[in-house]
Amino acid sequence: MMQELFERVRGLDLDRAAQWKAAGGKVVGYTCVFTPVEIIEAAGLLPFRIRGAGNAETEMADARLSRFNCSFCRSCLQLGLDGTFDFLDGLIETNGCDQLRGMFENWQYARPVDFFHYLKGPHFLAPESVDYFANELRLFAEALDDYFGVKTTDADLAAATAIQARIREKLALVYGLREAERPAITGTETLALILAGSAVPAKEFEELLDDVLKQRTGHDIGSFKARILLGGSATDEVEFVGMIEEMGGAVVTDTLCFGTRAFWPRRDVVDDEPYRALAELYLRQSMCPRMYDQFPDRLTYLLTAAERARVDGVILVHNKFCDVHGIDNALLRLRLREKEMPVLCLEKEYGGLADLGRMRTRVQAFLERIGERP
Ligand code: SF4
Repeated sequence: MMQELFERVRGLDLDRAAQWKAAGGKVVGYTCVFTPVEIIEAAGLLPFRIRGAGNAETEMADARLSRFNCSFCRSCLQLGLDGTFDFLDGLIETNGCDQLRGMFENWQYARPVDFFHYLKGPHFLAPESVDYFANELRLFAEALDDYFGVKTTDADLAAATAIQARIREKLALVYGLREAERPAITGTETLALILAGSAVPAKEFEELLDDVLKQRTGHDIGSFKARILLGGSATDEVEFVGMIEEMGGAVVTDTLCFGTRAFWPRRDVVDDEPYRALAELYLRQSMCPRMYDQFPDRLTYLLTAAERARVDGVILVHNKFCDVHGIDNALLRLRLREKEMPVLCLEKEYGGLADLGRMRTRVQAFLERIGERP
């Protein structure tokens, strides 16, 4: 099963979306984990997380953005402009970072998607921030309803919210297997699982999680040299995580947005007003550096994960020109060094543009350094 997942997620994993469309369904693309997929699913639409996997060309994107933009955004834009994502019926722009905004706005300008919505999330937590975001979520749901001719009820939203809550619980169980003394699932496999879940309906992701939990409970991935936490910017590259693990660094946990950041901090919120509950869930519990003033929370989050998974070292990665994560990683490195935690900061290009050979040399030296510690 894992081999099949690897094959799917090394590329863009478009088959399920194609089947969905063939059956008359509509597909809505988003990128940032600030997008509450519950709202898209409640409207009967398939949420599809846009990635740039397997793409090593960015010429069309470079003509719109510049080569001084993050190559994750440029790769996604390239695939938007070359027609790869023409199957999308809708596109959700978020203000995760300005590079992401540039990606969406250039895409919509040059090759418009029928439905385009800009979902704005506050960058800091003021008393009124949650109410503001709740209102944005209501507008988002209304826009989907109006354009796709549906009527999302509170019951629809409650059902979609309940299934995402179960998915979060099951993902935490998978991470329990991954972070165990004898890990039962690798970091590469966990990433493949999460990516596969971002291109299928929630119900199918839940079934996939059930299968993996059944198969992997009691399994042992075998020996490794060191336990690693991987943190940083958009990292959906199974080859990159696989490279760390091939050299003996078991990536036993992460703080990535294609990882724990998308589900671990989110604890169920009880509120009579469902959009406010979602706003609480997504905004107040975010561990993304897009949020100002919350560095102390992110540091605690990382230290807690490192302790929970008993890691020997931390690798912090960011895509070149990603200032948001580049600055956060530099600050995190200082704090980790104060605690005498070995840390490696890697700046890289995204996906097919990455220089894996150079990364390999640096990771190897890092693992040797950890191995020499008394
Ligand atoms: S990697 Fe950085 S620049 Fe690129 S989308 Fe993410 S936060 Fe924005």
